[in-house]
Amino acid sequence: MSKQTLSFQAEVAQLLHLVTHSLYSNREIFLRELISNASDACDKLRFEGLNNAALYEDAPNLEVRVAFDKAAKTLTITDNGIGMSQQEAIDHLGTIAKSGTKDFMSKLSGDQKADAQLIGQFGVGFYSGFIVADRITVESRRAGLTAEEGVRWVSGGAGDFEVETLSRAQRGTSVILHLRDDADEFLNLWKLKQIIGKYSDHISLPILMEKEEWKEGEDNQPGTMVPTGEWETVNKANALWTRPKKEITEEQYVDFYKAISHDFEAPLTWAHNRVEGNTEYNQLLYIPAKAPFDLWNRDKKAGVKLYVKRVFIMDDAEALMPTYLRFVKGVIDSADLPLNVSRELLQESRDVRAIREGSTKRVLSMLEDLAKHDRHDAAPGADGVTDVVDADDKAKEGKYSSFYAEFGSVLKEGLGEDFGNRERLAKLLRYASTQSDTAHVSLADYKARMKDGQEAIYYITADTLAAAKNSPQLELFKKKGIEVLLMTDRVDEWSLNYLNEFDGTPLQSVAKGAVDLGTLQDEAEKKAAEEAAETFKPLLAKLKEALKDKAEDVRVTTRLVDSPACLVVQDGGMSTQLARMLKQAGQSAPEAKPVLEVNAEHPLVRKLDGSVHFNDLAHILFDQALLAEGGLPEDPAAYVKRVNALLA
Ligand code: ADP
Repeated sequence: MSKQTLSFQAEVAQLLHLVTHSLYSNREIFLRELISNASDACDKLRFEGLNNAALYEDAPNLEVRVAFDKAAKTLTITDNGIGMSQQEAIDHLGTIAKSGTKDFMSKLSGDQKADAQLIGQFGVGFYSGFIVADRITVESRRAGLTAEEGVRWVSGGAGDFEVETLSRAQRGTSVILHLRDDADEFLNLWKLKQIIGKYSDHISLPILMEKEEWKEGEDNQPGTMVPTGEWETVNKANALWTRPKKEITEEQYVDFYKAISHDFEAPLTWAHNRVEGNTEYNQLLYIPAKAPFDLWNRDKKAGVKLYVKRVFIMDDAEALMPTYLRFVKGVIDSADLPLNVSRELLQESRDVRAIREGSTKRVLSMLEDLAKHDRHDAAPGADGVTDVVDADDKAKEGKYSSFYAEFGSVLKEGLGEDFGNRERLAKLLRYASTQSDTAHVSLADYKARMKDGQEAIYYITADTLAAAKNSPQLELFKKKGIEVLLMTDRVDEWSLNYLNEFDGTPLQSVAKGAVDLGTLQDEAEKKAAEEAAETFKPLLAKLKEALKDKAEDVRVTTRLVDSPACLVVQDGGMSTQLARMLKQAGQSAPEAKPVLEVNAEHPLVRKLDGSVHFNDLAHILFDQALLAEGGLPEDPAAYVKRVNALLA
């Protein structure tokens, strides 16, 4: 073929114009695009080589070389991948074969900023070279063709390009960028290494650059760095996630985790999968062993990195993982997304939504698996034999508890955030209870132990485990042997707003509303309570009057056994504990007054009637109820004064 000059397809010319005018602010991406093309070319050779080993010729090791020449002002990216025939060079580098090109072109507005965004989504690929180069020479030879069938393609990026036959012994492609005058910064080993590290570290084939050494200047000239002829790999070449599972050792998984998470400790567990179907991707997701110091910063970068075909796209891919799973680290690598995917596109893409859902489910099943093997409360089965555990199961023992201790509070946020998975999340919750201090009671465990006739899962929220355990509100439940979950986590009450029931059984706070234990209370008890309410009516009215600034209502209760009084909130109201927490955090809490419930059987309450100290006793009763649940009287000094007056 003698030298010919051909015109670009109209769309290419248009795209080239845009690329050079709009992508200037982010021009280093050209290297990522060209290395990605080189890597694709090697992938293609690998694929065709499966059926035709001769394509490898005598160079079996696929690689990419990046070289620069300061004097000539060129930067060259060479691969020994599949290469291009003459016709392929004309077709692939002169036209855009991509579907949707027309549509894309019609969306361009002429506004540089808006268009730059669009081009990013479209993917500029090879043409991005023209951001930094005013001329590009491509020299290529397709694997399997003779050395005489090579091609040289040259273009200044305006309307046309030249092609001619080239004799080229080496298979594959060299893209030679003749850099613009203002692109000198890319004639620098460190700069190039840094860009490669940023975008292409996980490209699975080696990217080589020539080492440099310092050479003193002669005749008082300044010294300079000169090439040594020795090449070294500058990327980590470790796209671990794309390799088959069985080829990867545990140690490699752990090392990779450390590299991407900057964690010193090994992860708790991981899952590595290739997801197939409508949306295809690889996922390698890790659950760390320890919570990071900034776990509570909901705005921090997500730990999951998005790759498209092994090229790093972004690591604040919030779109890939819900906020309540922000502790998850790992890599998702999609073959379907465009390389230059933007944040906006990420959020809109159906593929990304499918990836997010799939990855969320994967994390939940990892947790379910750990939970299943968490043999903390492993009790012998009905036949008296504890299940046999194999070595693998054994390794997972206790891991869920340690996960939960680190990340349980964050996981609970999911109840309010991820309605679709609420049921699965509910099964993963663990609490302490009046029957177990170890904080490993699941709602299913609780349900299995419920008393005959018990209609609700009871819980109490408090600041500390001691306050919860000793709360007067539990007295009746203790007396009747009804288990109550003890919740001491800050997010508990908030998160339970989103969980009204578990497996058909409602969750009920013991500190909210009137107690109704249904059939668990016998007729005699109910009757006694009704009678007490009747006889105490005048006393209750007096108490209400005395405490009208503090209590919404005063009523007789059956929930107390040993204590004289306790505070409850109206059904659906915010607990006094949560209101207190909000106030401490400087936030406004609704000023709802609690209800004072008194134990008609208690001697102190019986003494009230007719006492000359009625007013003091009423206030003491109220303040003590507040103290008992970990609160403080509004006026502690007044409380002390009243008690002392009585003591004296
Ligand atoms: P894309 O890579 O998205 O298809 P590009 O504009 O980057 O778009 O490249 C167009 C085509 O040129 C590629 O699809 C490929 O066929 C060919 N090509 C580009 N670079 C190389 C290379 N280094 N080796 C072989 N073919 C290449």
